[in-house]
Order: sequence, then structure tokens, then C-alpha cells
Amino acid sequence: MRCACLIVALVVSPFALAGAQDTTHYTHADTLRGSNGPGRAWWDVQFYDLHTSVNPADSTIGGWNAITYRVLQPGKEMQIDLQVPLQVDSIVQERKKLTSRRDGNAFFVTLKAQQKAGATGTITVWYHGKPRVGRRLPWDGGFTFPKDSLGRQWLATANQGLGASVWWPNKHYLRDEPDSQRIAITVPDSLIDVSNGRLRKTTKNADGTTTYEWFVVSPINNYDVTINAAHYAHLSDTLAGETGKLSLDFWPLDYHADTARREFQRQVPSMLRCFEHWFGPYPWYADGYKLVETPHLGMEHQSAVAYGNHFLNGYLGRDLSYTGLGLQWDFIIVHESAHEWWGNSLSAQDHADMWLHESFANYAEGIYTECMMGKMAGAAYMIGARRGVRNDRPIVPVFGVNAQGSGDMYPKGGNMLHTIRAIIDDDAKWRDILRGLQKAFYHQTVTGKQVQDYISREAGIDLSKVFAQYLTTIKIPVFEYRVQGSTLSYRWSNVVPGFDMPVRVNIPGLGTRQLKPTEAWQTLEASPKASELSVDENFYVTAAATP
Ligand SMILES: [Zn+2]
Repeated sequence: MRCACLIVALVVSPFALAGAQDTTHYTHADTLRGSNGPGRAWWDVQFYDLHTSVNPADSTIGGWNAITYRVLQPGKEMQIDLQVPLQVDSIVQERKKLTSRRDGNAFFVTLKAQQKAGATGTITVWYHGKPRVGRRLPWDGGFTFPKDSLGRQWLATANQGLGASVWWPNKHYLRDEPDSQRIAITVPDSLIDVSNGRLRKTTKNADGTTTYEWFVVSPINNYDVTINAAHYAHLSDTLAGETGKLSLDFWPLDYHADTARREFQRQVPSMLRCFEHWFGPYPWYADGYKLVETPHLGMEHQSAVAYGNHFLNGYLGRDLSYTGLGLQWDFIIVHESAHEWWGNSLSAQDHADMWLHESFANYAEGIYTECMMGKMAGAAYMIGARRGVRNDRPIVPVFGVNAQGSGDMYPKGGNMLHTIRAIIDDDAKWRDILRGLQKAFYHQTVTGKQVQDYISREAGIDLSKVFAQYLTTIKIPVFEYRVQGSTLSYRWSNVVPGFDMPVRVNIPGLGTRQLKPTEAWQTLEASPKASELSVDENFYVTAAATP
């Protein structure tokens, strides 16, 4: 997702200095939205059967979503989310209209009867209205109804953060994904809709519209569900991947077909091979891999990655690593596709853990650079990206209110992972850990702690203080040292209590040493020239000589 935040991060939150645990500015609506409340906890989404018609002439939408659920514990009142200004027309279960009360963007629906644990049921929510039009997708999200450069209609959705209930009714809670979903989108005949998964059916309707029925056979984050409709061309290819034949489908605007064929085929197969090597098999063989040209920059829409980087290398032609290396490849293809592993297959249960999506996607940029240009280049990319770190507020904010942490979840979080690789200092083991995470948490929602614990366990090193340092504080560790006669003294400062990260230091006269500093001074016999020591720059720390 959301390379988007690289720019959002430049907007300093008014709460930036309030500290990670300050919840005073969160509202009742934030809690309804971000927590597993009583209207949500008792049921598990099995299937969304979404049918939405879009009328670009007046920017309205309408349709229904049939929500199939399994009852985890007895319950009767169900929370369904749909954001204003959209209206619910009716909610129906077994042909009977249900009553509901609206609380802002949440509807509390009273079901026909108390639901019994283990049972399954379906309710259908009919809705319509003018959805929120984003001023600037993907950052300011919602719908967009622009024209292409030939003046023809184009439309798209992007709603990460804001959430899927900005255009369709659902259980708007990251932890609960459906096992599969139909996305049937009706648009004027002149347009082709490209949504997630595979196209099962196209139906031409009598009223000058066409319905495109897409189907995702895997669990999907609801913010990944998307509509993209335009005058598209369709290019197809396949990749002989780790677990078989993977379909590649590209949907550029018709007049970009030649450019898209060249650029996508130049970059996509090499990228997928690189990511499969490092992260394991592409997670959605059944749903395929797709790139869809969009009027906005990009978004990790699962099995329908949104692409709007104008067929340029870099991030809209810029290099976010300031090294020149980022201009060797297309940032949006690489970053957004990395989310198919990090964010879409392994997904955060709470927005506060979005580093699981963005830190790993940022790190994947370095991995792709490494695949293309060697290990030194990959490291240089990651180190260069530190220039984008703001240290304005922690990466992990409060849980349960849909809060998001600092945009540092991209370059700083990526550098935390790069640093952990340097600590482990065993590339085969590091690769096993990355692939192991993907295997252990395949198609699952997880907590940050589960991922941290997995890495520590597999590395055989307790990294809890390292995670705490980089994720929950804005402090970069300082390797403090001084040389007196032939004694080198060193310690960590500016760190969380108990910080004990090993670090590699090149000490003139002694060579490269792995030291295990703590907050207490330690000493080492060395020559006076030790004052010219240097810390391995793969570790994201600073070094300071003290008198
Ligand atoms: Zn992203």
C-alpha cells in the first residue's frame, strides 16, 4: 500500500508531540471503527457478494452487498459500516427487513433472532448515494471520476486508511477478512471495469451498461477491493513461478498499450522472480497478478495492483534513496507489488501495526535493488533512504482506534529490518526468516508482536529491544566511545532501557569486531588510533566520540 504515505508524512500531525499513548483526541467513532466491539466480535465474515453500479454522469453509486458470516458466539446485534454521505436503503435477512440504528458511519442491525454459535447466516445490505470524492487519491481517498487525456471517462477508487466503507457496506475491521469475495461492478458500456481476482462473467445490460463480475478466491483486505474503469487495453503473459504458471495481466489505457507492454515486461518478471526468491511464492496464484493503470499514483490493491507512475522510473521520476539507484526501476511497480506479500498476504490486524506493510515494502525496494545490481547496491539504497526519516513521532501509535503512526514506517522501518539483517549477519538465515514469515502467516492477519517474536526466535537473538527502539521511540541509538591511552570505552546512549543491540565496528589496529554494547561503559584494549574507529553503516545508528 501505500507508498502514498511518503508524502503524507510531510504533513506534521498537530498531535505529533503528544506521545504514543495519548488517546485524548480519539473519538467514539474512532473506537467504533478501530476496535473489535460488541457488534463485531461475535461473528466472522465468510463471504462478501458485492454488486455495485456506478453512474459517472452524476457521480452516484448503488447496489448491495450480501454478507455471509459464521457465528463465533451467540449474538443478535451486528455492526455494519458505511460512511456518510452514503445511505442504507434496507437490510434484509431471509426476505425479511431488519431494523437498524445509525451511529455515524456505523449501523447496528438487529437480526431476526439470537444467532447460535457455529451457525452461518447472510444479511444483504442495499445502499446508494454519492460517495466521497477524494481530492487527491490515494492520499485523500474515495472515488475519483476524471477524464483520460482524450477526454474520455475514467474512474477509480483508493481508500486505504479511510477504508472500504467509504464506498461499500462491510465489516470495516482489518482483523476480519472474508475467505473469498465477488465484486460485480456495473459501468457504462464504453468502459471496462478491472477489479480484483479473475473476471468470471461479462453481462451486457439493456440500459447501456455492462456488468463485470470479478471473483477473488482468497482472503482479501477490504481496503484492497477496487473499481477501476476506463478505456483499457488488455495484455497477457505468464511467468513460470515457484509454484507453477502464474498469469500476468496488464490493463493500461488503450493508447498506452505499447509503452505498457515494454515497461511492464521489462520489470515485472524480474521483480516477481526476485521477490519469490527472497519472500517465497507469490501469494495469489489462484487470483493471478495484475497491474491496472489508474489516474492516481498507486495502491496495493490485491491481485489488481494500481499503477499510475506514468511509465517512469523512480517515484514519479524521483529517487527516494538519493543515490541514483532508485532511478533504475519503477518505484510503483516494485513497492506496490511487494505488498502482495507484505500487507495483503501477511496483513496487520490493527492500523497501528502498519509497519508490517510499509517497513517490509520499503525493505523490498532494497531487495529488488540487490537482485538487479548486487548486495552493495541494495545496502546503499537502504542507507540512502535514511535521508527521508523524520523522527517526528513513533512508527507504532495507539491500538484500537484506527490510528496510524509516522510515515517513518517506510524508510526508518525498512532500515530497522536492514539493521536486523546486519545483526544476524547470515544472508541464508535472513532469507529463511523472510520466507518463513510468509509461510507461517500465509493469508493471515497478524499482530506486530507475532512477527517480532518470530524473527527473534528464528534468529536465535532476542531483538525485542531493537524493535522497541525503532518502532516506539523517535531516538536513533548513539554508539558513544572514547579512547584514553590504550583503552577504548564504549556504550549505547539515547536508547530504551536494556537496549543491547550487537554492532560491528572497524577499529584501527584490531580490525572488524562485533561488540555487544549496553548502556553501561565497557572497555577494550586498543591502540590510540582506535579513536578513528567506524561503525558498520549497515547499522542504523550514529557514533559519537565523547571526551
Ligand atoms: Zn506501501
